[in-house]
Amino acid sequence: MSIENNITITFPDGNKKKYQKGITGIQVAESIAKSLAKDAIAVSINGIQKDLCDEINSDSNISIITVNTDEGLEIMRHTLTAQVLARAVKNIYPNAKLAIGPTIDNGFYYDVYFEKPISSEDLPKIEKEMSKIISNGSSIKKSIYNKKDVIKLFNDRDEKYKIDIINNSDQLDNFQIYSQDGSDFIDLCYGPHLPNLKHIGAFKLTKLAGAYWRGDSNNEMLQRIYGTAWKNKNDLDIHLEMLKEAEKRDHRKLGREMDLFHFQEESPGSVFWHSKGWLLYQTLINYMKKRQDAAGYQEINTPDIMDRSLWEKSGHWEKFGDSMFTTEAKEDKIYALKPMSCPGAVQVYKQGIKSYRDLPLRLSEFGKVHRYEPSGALHGLMRVRGFTQDDAHIFCTEDQITDECKTVCNLILSIYKDFGFEDIHIKFSDRPEKRVGNDNIWDRSEEALKIAIEASGLSYTYNPGEGAFYGPKIEFVLRDAIGRDWQCGTLQVDLNLPERLSANFIAEDGQKYPPVMLHRALFGSIERFIGILIENYSGRLPLWLSPTQVVIATITSETNNYAEKVLNLFMKNNIRAEIDIRNEKIGYKIREHSNAKIPVLIIIGKQEAEKEVLSVRRLGSTDTETGKLEEIIKNLKIESCVPQ
Ligand code: ZN
Repeated sequence: MSIENNITITFPDGNKKKYQKGITGIQVAESIAKSLAKDAIAVSINGIQKDLCDEINSDSNISIITVNTDEGLEIMRHTLTAQVLARAVKNIYPNAKLAIGPTIDNGFYYDVYFEKPISSEDLPKIEKEMSKIISNGSSIKKSIYNKKDVIKLFNDRDEKYKIDIINNSDQLDNFQIYSQDGSDFIDLCYGPHLPNLKHIGAFKLTKLAGAYWRGDSNNEMLQRIYGTAWKNKNDLDIHLEMLKEAEKRDHRKLGREMDLFHFQEESPGSVFWHSKGWLLYQTLINYMKKRQDAAGYQEINTPDIMDRSLWEKSGHWEKFGDSMFTTEAKEDKIYALKPMSCPGAVQVYKQGIKSYRDLPLRLSEFGKVHRYEPSGALHGLMRVRGFTQDDAHIFCTEDQITDECKTVCNLILSIYKDFGFEDIHIKFSDRPEKRVGNDNIWDRSEEALKIAIEASGLSYTYNPGEGAFYGPKIEFVLRDAIGRDWQCGTLQVDLNLPERLSANFIAEDGQKYPPVMLHRALFGSIERFIGILIENYSGRLPLWLSPTQVVIATITSETNNYAEKVLNLFMKNNIRAEIDIRNEKIGYKIREHSNAKIPVLIIIGKQEAEKEVLSVRRLGSTDTETGKLEEIIKNLKIESCVPQ
């Protein structure tokens, strides 16, 4: 640098500009455009979010964050909880003690200790106070304290959780305290925050829950106030509508109504499948088996419980140990329930000598895995402790990576389409800071994955540094009927595990090399995928997936013989049918089977029996269509076929 007081700032478009040392983010924004300065809420300095008032003292990459970006929205939510919700709470309940207030997906929460617990009826009052605070449009200021002074500050205010946070910090100074014009409210925070409350959009407090301080049940119980916040009222309304819709579709509620599964306390996070749910589960497995057979996979199965030493070799014991269930057998050894199927698959690969001619070798396994999840995180089928992955490991040479990845991408898209998901996008994560293998290998495996993604024609987002320690990965995210994103499939390139577990093949040059291992799962967890299907379809599964496809309901007992005959015909044609000849009113039967989400109801009265016809009523419709017996069976048979 020629002049000591100058620094060079590089903008996202590659443009460079010289500024005086000590310039702030807001001054940089002003130098670019007035409109940008007006929308600016924070600044990213070398990838780290900072307040607009922070000084920039060295050459840096800078981008100005506005509230119209995802990053900006997140900062707005953060300010809303830490500065507005917390201040409103203190205004109404001066003796409340503030704990922590982070952002979460679509919103935020704040944990507070109230002298007298509040109820959800108090939320509108807090919302009103928040709106009042926002309407003042105060500026937010930051001051820096050292440890001693910041402790005194919160001691005077009797905020014991803040003091606990500070005491547990290694920091000695640089504690950031945020406050607002015209208020003596303060909060301790890493920031950044909005420069002014006028940037806050639309919000709503959504619910109240209990939470222990530091998540430890030995500590006192706090109350957690949840909220959601958006750029504007319209976005908020769309989100609230989606929440309402999601509640109606909750798979735990529908799963009960459809008699698919249940959970009970003796086995938290493990599913008790009922016969209908198990049928659905088997339909998914059978479908996947067929698709994998056609794609050249060989199905294997490996033990659920394996010796600790194997998990140590694979690196899971060190890396994944906290999530593993262990078991002690009488023979004084420690075993672990498998949290992943990979090491087992490598053992199968290692049987017998492999040559390059054996590759690619695609070994699939419906692997039942167990992972410890804290009980608070469990959520129906979506987050469980025991689940089955439609896992596969493809052992191949480096030259084969691209082709194999392309094939996996195509397979996964075609499979999601069969289940009604067409809005898919990909997240691509490359080398993390902590990794194994040299850069040359990383270059090649990232390049191979990228070519495969581009060939699939899918849009993708890029998560730099988020790959696994052994290789880059892509994740497949599907969007459901109400616009929610679910990450299901994954594909990872692994240049590490085969070597760790001494797997190899003999290459053309007669030398031994470790193969590349591709890990892939398409449904991901079958349990979770079923949860997603139930919610996506609101329980109204396509005919081929419905555990019971048809119910034959009689109006009068005089037609029982005809109904039995119809049932036999359905069964002969491999249509999953049941008969309902109970002595109940037809209206009652219709209601009951509709609640159980039976897609096709066949109603049989005297007329139908005499003329050998069927009256068909579809789920959700009040119309019945009448047709010849053979004709209807033929059509339903076609409709109920598994997609090929
Ligand atoms: Zn694996």
